[in-house]
Amino acid sequence: MAPGVHKASTVIFPDVQALRSRDWKDKSGYTYGLHGTPTTFTLEERIATLEGGRFCVLAPSGLSAISLVDMAFLRQGDEMLLPDNAYGPGKAFAEAELRQWGVRVGYYDPMNPADLAARLTPASRLVWLEAPGSITLEFPDLPALTEVVRLHNARLQGDRPAVTVLDNTWGAGLAFNAFDLGVDVSMQALTKYPSGGADVLMGSVVTRDEALHRQVLLCHMRLGLGVGANDAELVLRGLPTVALRYHAQDAATQELARWMQAQEGVAQVLHPALPGSPGHAFWRRDARAAACLFSAVFDARFSPRQIDAFCNSLRCFRLGWSWAGPISLCAPYHVPSIRSLTPWPHAGGLVRFAVGLESVEDLQADLAQGLSKLLS
Ligand SMILES: *Cc1c(COP(=O)(O)O)cnc(C)c1O
Repeated sequence: MAPGVHKASTVIFPDVQALRSRDWKDKSGYTYGLHGTPTTFTLEERIATLEGGRFCVLAPSGLSAISLVDMAFLRQGDEMLLPDNAYGPGKAFAEAELRQWGVRVGYYDPMNPADLAARLTPASRLVWLEAPGSITLEFPDLPALTEVVRLHNARLQGDRPAVTVLDNTWGAGLAFNAFDLGVDVSMQALTKYPSGGADVLMGSVVTRDEALHRQVLLCHMRLGLGVGANDAELVLRGLPTVALRYHAQDAATQELARWMQAQEGVAQVLHPALPGSPGHAFWRRDARAAACLFSAVFDARFSPRQIDAFCNSLRCFRLGWSWAGPISLCAPYHVPSIRSLTPWPHAGGLVRFAVGLESVEDLQADLAQGLSKLLS
């Protein structure tokens, strides 16, 4: 039977003694809607289980889960390190808000653990990881990166250790177990796979470590980041099919990515399962599946206007943000303007495709008609 949808701001207590003694801080009982209801607690438990973690807190969007983690672990004078291919809005929060609160924001090359090692300082408190990176889909050596941070922490004398946090939206707890790869905290946009419907926004922060969880939980309570019961219900409804959808979209995406790779006008297709795509060997070693994203880098002979026209010409692939919903999406990106550290080796434009649940034949025919117009 599906769990009930409990809606509350107010929770009624039987007497003053109960009102005084029920502790909102550890969610051991229901105290106030903002602190969770049986509906959200059920969802938290399921997301933690799915990811192989122990504790979970929900936030009203993936981005609010990112900023929650930042605010839970960072204080004035601390430093945060982001991969050069980090999710853009998370970067924007760091640049615009964290910096003005006195947090230093730095970047590292996610494909070079030695570069991360060289950039860690005693002030480093939070190291974000993404597998693969947003838009460009390089798959990093996660065990090597988390080991670099562990070795750094072991050498600290009296400083607070650095915490590693993975944006696990792509893996969704299905492609790999983040904690087994050495990650301390796993954040996910439930907006994507767990929801699956492209109709709800939510985020999660999962840990195995109780002390880290408590730090996130207390900050979460102080910020007032509750989620609505109806939204939690939508995600609970998506969860039983998440593995089916993940693997179906994975198979369709790999088929389309391989086909696209062979097309005239396409310089390279980026997808961790394709040999030659950055980090392919790490993906093969550490992951058992891949999400529904691939990016195509076009020949340099096509102008940005032509690439835009190609996107406009597609009929199945619609224009819009997000992914892992039923409808396939695409969007063009200008990569040099979204990274600051590592050189981008391609001159041609990039389009990121998110494969939905339509038939692969229809999607391939759509790409074929778009490419033939581009080449004509
Ligand atoms: C979508 C996304 C987010 C943010 O999720 P929202 O619910 O849209 O705020 C964070 N990280 C990644 C990798 C995403 O794709």
